[in-house]
Amino acid sequence: MSNFFVPGPTWVRPEILKEMTRPMIGHRGAEFRELYARIAADLKPLFATAQDTFVMTATGTALMEAALVNCVNRRLLVTTCGAFSERWLAIAESLGLEVDKLSVEWGKAIDPEDLRDHLTSRRAHYDAVTITHNETSTGVTNDVAALARAVREESPDTLVLVDAVSSLGGIPVRVDEWGLDVCFASVQKAIALPPGIALVAVSAQTLARARKMPYRGTYFDFLNYKKHADDGGVPSTPSIPHFYALAAQLEHILRGETLEARFRRHAAMRATTIARTSTFAKLASDRTHASATVSALAPVRPPEELRAAMKQRGYTLGGGYGKWKETTFRVGHMGDITMESLNAMLDVLEEVART
Ligand code: PLP
Repeated sequence: MSNFFVPGPTWVRPEILKEMTRPMIGHRGAEFRELYARIAADLKPLFATAQDTFVMTATGTALMEAALVNCVNRRLLVTTCGAFSERWLAIAESLGLEVDKLSVEWGKAIDPEDLRDHLTSRRAHYDAVTITHNETSTGVTNDVAALARAVREESPDTLVLVDAVSSLGGIPVRVDEWGLDVCFASVQKAIALPPGIALVAVSAQTLARARKMPYRGTYFDFLNYKKHADDGGVPSTPSIPHFYALAAQLEHILRGETLEARFRRHAAMRATTIARTSTFAKLASDRTHASATVSALAPVRPPEELRAAMKQRGYTLGGGYGKWKETTFRVGHMGDITMESLNAMLDVLEEVART
């Protein structure tokens, strides 16, 4: 049973931790090729894509930068609704890109019609638009399907770059059906591995765009990942322990629990968390877009007091993030956390909130 309810990193099953202690293998040999082939085959259903997928020894933030260096030559539109969606702005500015933003207040989701209006009313052409599927700071899930459709319809050659860091593996993500060009996730969230690698799916348009970029740097160059992936590997020495763990975890997600059951479990954890905290905490964000992987809650008692009291009882909860730090705490209900663990934690939280 887990007592760790942080919205990333999340609790990791002991059998997965054990996978990470296997002996090293060379990353240019047949054993690694076989391991990589299994992973590559399983990433397709995970992202619901028939296009290319890569594994990078890096975290989600690196993939944000990678998406920009491969896809954006000049101008970018960033949609923001919280701290992680805002991170794109700082990265884009550090790369010298021209950036516009379409923002809603924290706790709300981006309205696809606002995005459509923005794209039609602006004469500026965007190389890409960024969308954060699940805003971990506020516990809001954006409707990526509708947002991507707005981009496709209003500006067909604008690429859609999606951060699925805290959704992939917990909330449905359908890269090909939704028409996403870059979609990535860290593994320390709903995939429930230790942090250290990130997964990405890229469209054919993305690779075509990358070919036209004058400079893509070296480590994040998608074309270099594609070249090596086609040969069964990665460009530089990967975190091999993570690859063992990922292969085992994909086996569990796809053929053990199954993706559909995993999505149902996450939706049920959201409902339980919201229902069982409602007497002492308000859901801080828009209920109609409440995330199935993380809930940001504004309690009657100061949140840090609640968290400290829970820590004394052996439970770790997430703190409020950024400008919501003083007013909220977060329950991460993602990855391999069971309903049984969640309910056991909520029993204690209810008791602590009463005292
Ligand atoms: N995007 C979102 C939505 C996140 O929640 C996070 C981390 O919490 C990141 C990006 C950054 O990911 P990483 O910490 O793996 O770099």
